[in-house]
Amino acid sequence: MHENEDSALYDLLVVGSANADLVIGVDRRPAPGETVLGSDLAVHPGGKGANQAVAAARLGARTALLARVGDDAHGRLLLESQQAAGVDTGGVLVGGAPTGVALITVDPSGDNSIVVSPGANARLTPQDIRAAAALFGAARVVSVQLEIPLETVAETARALAPGTRLVLNPSPPAPLPEDVLTACDPLVVNEHEARYILGILGDDTAGAAPEDWARTLLTHGPRSVVVTLGAAGALVADSRTGDCVRVPSPEVDAVDTTGAGDAFTAALAWRLGLGEELAAAAAFAVRVGAAAVTGQGAQASFPTVAEVAAL
Ligand code: ADP
Repeated sequence: MHENEDSALYDLLVVGSANADLVIGVDRRPAPGETVLGSDLAVHPGGKGANQAVAAARLGARTALLARVGDDAHGRLLLESQQAAGVDTGGVLVGGAPTGVALITVDPSGDNSIVVSPGANARLTPQDIRAAAALFGAARVVSVQLEIPLETVAETARALAPGTRLVLNPSPPAPLPEDVLTACDPLVVNEHEARYILGILGDDTAGAAPEDWARTLLTHGPRSVVVTLGAAGALVADSRTGDCVRVPSPEVDAVDTTGAGDAFTAALAWRLGLGEELAAAAAFAVRVGAAAVTGQGAQASFPTVAEVAAL
């Protein structure tokens, strides 16, 4: 098993973003120069890092979040939602810029238009990562996404304690340095992210199946790859075993898929840290993802272990 298992205080350390999602329903989007009236404002805690931490903690994982929020009402909302889920927020840094915000308009067909102001997320620095060595030394698994600066993601890969596993969801997709790619175990991508990353690596995805994407991604260095396939579940590929297997999702009535990928990845990361094989961890994670799409919203839809079992 792994080296720091006995000393691990946290099943999962999430390094990532925290945003306030400001949502307004509109009949139609304003044209340039135009003003339209919308619904009452709804404010929800979000951001991929904050979502993953809440998802893991709600499942019962001992979870810590390393993120940056502003010294403002949105930052307090985010800290409160983390604490309510049981996340250790000792690593959440406060100040330096306003809390990240996503301005979201939703039209009657359910389509979103989103403007993100990264705010404090853009000020989570490599130095902040180096200053959090105690957290890194206490975590079995570290999970990171790309809503924070790429240099901070690269420092996160370098800061891993021996035996700690890195789970990376490259969202929003961006070119990844080679040392980050090779540290991933696994790289977790949806279809869009898989095509983007293969594209910038110079690999043609036209006509290729997800199995081909996963095998090709493995040749670029990750020790394992997981491709999420929406209602079809996921596909896992492991360079150690050479296995490439599909993991079907339970069938559910999907209400809102917001945050499903975050719930999936958090669940996967937690179970890998408990020592499960990749396919077994993914089999649990697809159930968590499926449960998450049966409820409205992101964090509000994340299930407990009992709710996953009841699916
Ligand atoms: P993302 O949300 O990042 O775009 P996916 O759409 O692949 O990624 O969804 C992530 C995971 O959420 C899937 O692997 C699956 O477990 C779950 N999921 C998403 N949509 C559905 C659905 N309609 N029915 C069941 N599970 C779903």
